[in-house]
Amino acid sequence: MEKDIFCRIIDGEIPCHKLYEDDDVLAFLDISQVTKGHALVVSKKHFDNFLTTPQEIMHKVMDVAQRIGQVDIKLLGARGVNILANCYPEAGQTVMHFHVHVIPRYGNVNEIEITMKNNSEGLNLPVLAKEIKDNL
Ligand code: 5GP
Repeated sequence: MEKDIFCRIIDGEIPCHKLYEDDDVLAFLDISQVTKGHALVVSKKHFDNFLTTPQEIMHKVMDVAQRIGQVDIKLLGARGVNILANCYPEAGQTVMHFHVHVIPRYGNVNEIEITMKNNSEGLNLPVLAKEIKDNL
């Protein structure tokens, strides 16, 4: 199977602007900066996405994402941060290797568009909640 782009970065075949590295986690600047400081935090071992990554590794990745977000606020002057994990193409995932986006927000328009529309019409929320709850 062909290596994905993040496996190639982890293996040193493609350069990146590194922010953090340990045995399990690598963080680097996204090549396409949605905003100044936009970072990606990835698991070194290959997993397809957040949902399929073992809990221990997922926690380590989220820990680094939190630390980078804190620096964005303290150092870069961001006024907010989006932490985003796209899972599967339908949710916008383009690189099939677990990664978390850390996107500093400076309060400018045109930074990023995440529009959550209300599509709850016709849904039976008590039934829906029970179905999810009973399968957790
Ligand atoms: P996704 O859409 O899968 O959530 O995000 C994948 C991200 O990887 C995109 O934001 C894209 O800009 C970034 N990306 C793709 N190729 C490279 C690369 O070679 N280097 C870096 N640093 N980022 C990349």
